[in-house]
Amino acid sequence: MEQEHGAHGPSVDELREKYRQEQQKRLRPEGMAQWGELSEELDRDPFVEPGFTRDPVVEETTVVIVGGGFAGMLTAIHLAKHGITDVRIVEKAGDFGGTWYWNRYPGCMCDVESYVYLPLLEETGFMPTEHYASAPEIFEYSKLLARTFDLYPRALFQTDVTGADWDAEARRWQVTTSRGDRLSAKFFVLAGGILHKAKLPGIPGIDAFEGKAFHTSRWDYGYTGGSPTEPMDQLADKRVAIIGTGATAVQVVPQVARSAKELYVFQRTPGAVGVRNQQPTDVEWFQGQQPGWQHERIVNFTQAVTGAQPEVDMVGDGWTEVMWVDTQKGAASAEEAAELERIDFEVMETIRARIDEVVEDPETAERLKPYWGKHCKRVCFHDDYLPAFNRPNVHLVDTEGRGVEAITRDGLVFDGVEYPVDLLIYASGFEVTTDLYHRLGFDPKGRDGVALSQRWAEGAHTLHGVLASGFPNMLLISLVQGGFGTNFSHLLSESAKHVARIVEACIDQGIVVIEPEEAAEEEWLALLLGVGMGNARYFQTCTPSFYNSEQQAIDSRAVRNLTYTGSLLEYVGYLERWRDEPEFPGVTVQRADAGEHG
Ligand code: NDP
Repeated sequence: MEQEHGAHGPSVDELREKYRQEQQKRLRPEGMAQWGELSEELDRDPFVEPGFTRDPVVEETTVVIVGGGFAGMLTAIHLAKHGITDVRIVEKAGDFGGTWYWNRYPGCMCDVESYVYLPLLEETGFMPTEHYASAPEIFEYSKLLARTFDLYPRALFQTDVTGADWDAEARRWQVTTSRGDRLSAKFFVLAGGILHKAKLPGIPGIDAFEGKAFHTSRWDYGYTGGSPTEPMDQLADKRVAIIGTGATAVQVVPQVARSAKELYVFQRTPGAVGVRNQQPTDVEWFQGQQPGWQHERIVNFTQAVTGAQPEVDMVGDGWTEVMWVDTQKGAASAEEAAELERIDFEVMETIRARIDEVVEDPETAERLKPYWGKHCKRVCFHDDYLPAFNRPNVHLVDTEGRGVEAITRDGLVFDGVEYPVDLLIYASGFEVTTDLYHRLGFDPKGRDGVALSQRWAEGAHTLHGVLASGFPNMLLISLVQGGFGTNFSHLLSESAKHVARIVEACIDQGIVVIEPEEAAEEEWLALLLGVGMGNARYFQTCTPSFYNSEQQAIDSRAVRNLTYTGSLLEYVGYLERWRDEPEFPGVTVQRADAGEHG
């Protein structure tokens, strides 16, 4: 039966059909295989001086952490609070900060409120200058965290881990690096980053382009001029193309639009862009906060964006408004399912209506409209993206789901038309659901020399996404069988706390080897599947994205690599209850002076 959506808007049935058509346009048989990798040249770190050398480090420590982003830093900080400072952090970049080290593109910021995003504000005493912190401010804050908690002496920068082997006799991980280091550690923490490995679209001819090209996470200010805070004066005579319209492109487009002679935005799927409403920090409000305020606000925000509907919406921004009702959850009745669908359509209609209000050319406005459910892809919040399309030098090239067809020596091709450009910017995102060892860049070898790639050949085996059978004393912080959240820093903070608590408990209790039992891992998987089934129906209707591995057919492997798709707070609850048990359930441990026990 046809249900009315609104007085003048499309009906629910019409919208459902429109979503289906838009999804069908975008389904690709190649699924995840459509993506390629950055060449060594494009992946090079543009933010360090070439030629760095140092002597190899040979040492034994309690912990080696891979990754100096928030996850790795917070793990080290939690350990230090417990007196464990015998920690080595290995980081590929030239400094701490992770994603905020790499992403220096103009306009880069975090669209999650700074008071809930920046970890440990009460400990550092730092006051963000604005509601939504800029990338330079977050990068500076990362360095402040590192200084405050004395992490610099423990870091090995510009260093890639090349191998890690479990040494059963020594009951240690033996870790090697690209700088010849030999690090031996009781515990090995993999905090290699969630959006760490940049990817490129596999467009035919991509290597033929002879102009300048880079990925947004390797911005070359030497070419564009300017800096994250200054205009890009060298683009004034340049024709620029951007591939992508995700969260990154939404922030980059307005900046390039201001500087470039011509800007061509190649769109495959329109992004959803809600109101951001940037404001300076209210100093009086910030300084009047009582101890414990930040954790309370973080939890409140996560409740608000996961449909828990707290009594007070403390953050009260676009995120909490759009995500207030969890419309992806399994409904208890047909009536509830219809109600959730109606709410989802309504939220997205508001986002679409805003485009008509802001974008002057009706055809461009229509082409910018996203027709997908609000949980299908990441919703963005920005006030300058849509107005950029009113500028005469900005051209939307809507590929209607097909994508750029080819790249030539001189430019990009769509629909038989070549668009010659001087600069090609890939705002094409990062690997998220590819194999963990691929993203890490090395393949840990666990018990009996079995590599992670072998053990996980048919998908992951973990307890909570943190401990993995066959890999004693290895602790993971990733999305694989772990949690997920709008506020990534909340997820990483809780994961880091959990990892640190496990290490602390082992040391306090004389546990020298800890490893999950396979039965406990299977139980965890069953739980993940149970939760995942609830919203599988919703995701079937979605347009492809990294949220659903480009909608490629789900095999048993993909099933095992699932993320906990319920609320982040529920996931945190599982971790906390497990930690609160007198003996960690579902793990086998060895104590220094005794045998094994289950
Ligand atoms: P995304 O993966 O979200 O976007 C990649 C874009 O490239 C998509 O628009 C995709 O289209 C497009 N694309 C791929 N192939 C082609 C092609 N052949 N032709 C044209 N377009 C193509 O990457 P982002 O870097 O934008 O965002 C990644 C994540 O980073 C976000 O989801 C978010 O988690 C994080 N982020 C967070 C920010 C914040 O403020 N907190 C800011 C920026 C990023 P299609 O949609 O059709 O696949």
